[in-house]
Amino acid sequence: MIVSKMCFLWGRYPHFLMVVQGLAMDRLKEKILTDGYVIGSEILKVDSFLNHQIDVELTLEVGKEFARLFKDSGATKILTVETSGIPAAYATALAMGNLPLVFAKKTVPSTMTDNTYMAPVKSFTKGTLSAIRVAADYLKKEDKVLIIDDFLATGQASLGLLDLVRQAGAKCVGIGTVIEKEWQGGHRRLEELGYRVESLAIITSIEDGVVKFK
Ligand code: 5GP
Repeated sequence: MIVSKMCFLWGRYPHFLMVVQGLAMDRLKEKILTDGYVIGSEILKVDSFLNHQIDVELTLEVGKEFARLFKDSGATKILTVETSGIPAAYATALAMGNLPLVFAKKTVPSTMTDNTYMAPVKSFTKGTLSAIRVAADYLKKEDKVLIIDDFLATGQASLGLLDLVRQAGAKCVGIGTVIEKEWQGGHRRLEELGYRVESLAIITSIEDGVVKFK
């Protein structure tokens, strides 16, 4: 009954689907405003729903939105970096038809062989330089990779992941981030390199504890 009503609405009002999707992303912005916690004017803490405690329902909506945005990208694999990128990347992989999800590791487990790709990444939040690694078995030259991460700030994490894709001889077909802090320049930097970048909530400023969206 509900399904037939929805079909009727989509047929009659083609913008209805977009409105429903818009509402889900409005919920993300609302959650940022109600549950986010600002540290100075550069860092937003969303540990209570995105990257420590997880709002699973919202994360699944995030995945569906990325799947909609990148449906024509031809992606065959989702790539992210541990740990905080994994929930959104997982939801996206599921929404895109159970694509394989690979996450780059920040530590080297004893089970990881020498046959790995490695790239240095400067952490935005810690200011430290670390290496991220993916086993060569899981990134192949025929892969069309969609990169998903929780935040886009200066773009260093994405650049590191792009380096791994390049080493594998694979192709990056897009970069999706849940929250972008626009003024930190990552989006522009990645677009200038020729990549398509989509962010679900774009913050234009954090001033006196107030978060403003685009
Ligand atoms: P970028 O490499 O683009 O400068 O920063 C993105 C990475 O740093 C993301 O993987 C994310 O984990 C972390 N990050 C950047 N800004 C923030 C922030 O405001 N809050 C949190 N929690 N993580 C951030």
